[in-house]
Amino acid sequence: MDGGIVDSRAPKLAMDSGACGYLTVDLAALCRNYDKLSAIVAPAKTAAVVKADSYGLGASQVSKALYARGCRSFFVAHFIEALRLRPQLPSDATIFVLNGLLPGNEATCADGGIVPVINSLDQLQQWSQTARSLQRRLPAVLQFDTGMSRLGIPPEDRSAVVAHLRTSDDIDILFIMSHLASADEADSRQNGDQLTEMSRVAAEFPQYDVSFANSGGIFLGGDFHGVLARPGIALYGGAPTGGVANPMEAVVRLEVAVVQTRTVPEGARVGYGGVHVTKGQTRLATIAAGYADGLPRSLSDRGAVYYNGVRLPIVGRVSMDSTTIDITTLPEGALSFGSMVEVLGDHQTLDDLARDAGLISYEILTSLGHRFHRQYR
Ligand SMILES: *Cc1c(COP(=O)(O)O)cnc(C)c1O
Repeated sequence: MDGGIVDSRAPKLAMDSGACGYLTVDLAALCRNYDKLSAIVAPAKTAAVVKADSYGLGASQVSKALYARGCRSFFVAHFIEALRLRPQLPSDATIFVLNGLLPGNEATCADGGIVPVINSLDQLQQWSQTARSLQRRLPAVLQFDTGMSRLGIPPEDRSAVVAHLRTSDDIDILFIMSHLASADEADSRQNGDQLTEMSRVAAEFPQYDVSFANSGGIFLGGDFHGVLARPGIALYGGAPTGGVANPMEAVVRLEVAVVQTRTVPEGARVGYGGVHVTKGQTRLATIAAGYADGLPRSLSDRGAVYYNGVRLPIVGRVSMDSTTIDITTLPEGALSFGSMVEVLGDHQTLDDLARDAGLISYEILTSLGHRFHRQYR
């Protein structure tokens, strides 16, 4: 693996990996982001949300780096992710499954020492039954719905959960949790509403600690921190809060190779559907990444890439494997076959690209393709 620093100023010809670009994940920046969030929530602890392959960046590499930094709690969404991650981490790392278990997964989960997040009374009863049949106590987290109506035990089932826990001691509840729906909007009334509801839950289950904040929640103040914060996007450099400067460090760089350049006259049609028509003589470059690589098709005729800090607009539709950019503003010959352009880096953040694409940073990250040469620094 090439561990070297990628310099977009140096035109590069064929890459020995055969890849069409470099996706660089800066694990040191990731760890600094972890430290920053940890300092904000201390003395509460900070977990890492590593679902969806750590938002596309590689759950194994990311989790190992964060473990080395002191993180011991890792959240995935699906049980299969927990099964894959479990052998990658030492046994004192705990892996939690946010979506809980599907019927039939209980024994494998218990065997693997994986902790399910229990989202309903049914799941609690099922997990208790597994514990009884294995004749040992099993760990779990209880998630409560405090107003998102997505996952978690609904208010009307809370008393039944209290009753269940009073009569059976086969589940070891590690903590209780809930998830914020609008944490990235600091002014949203929903945050206060959910906090109030979570206080009610905590009063009904006073024996347990609380986990509440995702990335955005960490920045809403100490009331939201509980004992364990669960950041995802902020670790990976995405802005945790909308409308303010992003306090996190960029973790991902993406550079893509130019595979062809050309000069076309005024009136030339560019790309599928011919939706872009040149207004004058234009120099174009085609780069080796398209929507199959995670450059959203909604960037067609909008957004840009950068070369030496110069903005090069995307023209025409984004194709599956390639995208055309207008390089007319660059000096002739500055960019050529084999040059690398910046898609994500010093001049264009994740949130910039997401905004231009009409998407959120989470979608950009989780769509980053697998045809790039991935390097971890
Ligand atoms: C995805 C997720 C998180 C992390 O959210 P970010 O906004 O990426 O910080 C935390 N908790 C739950 C329940 C989640 O589903």
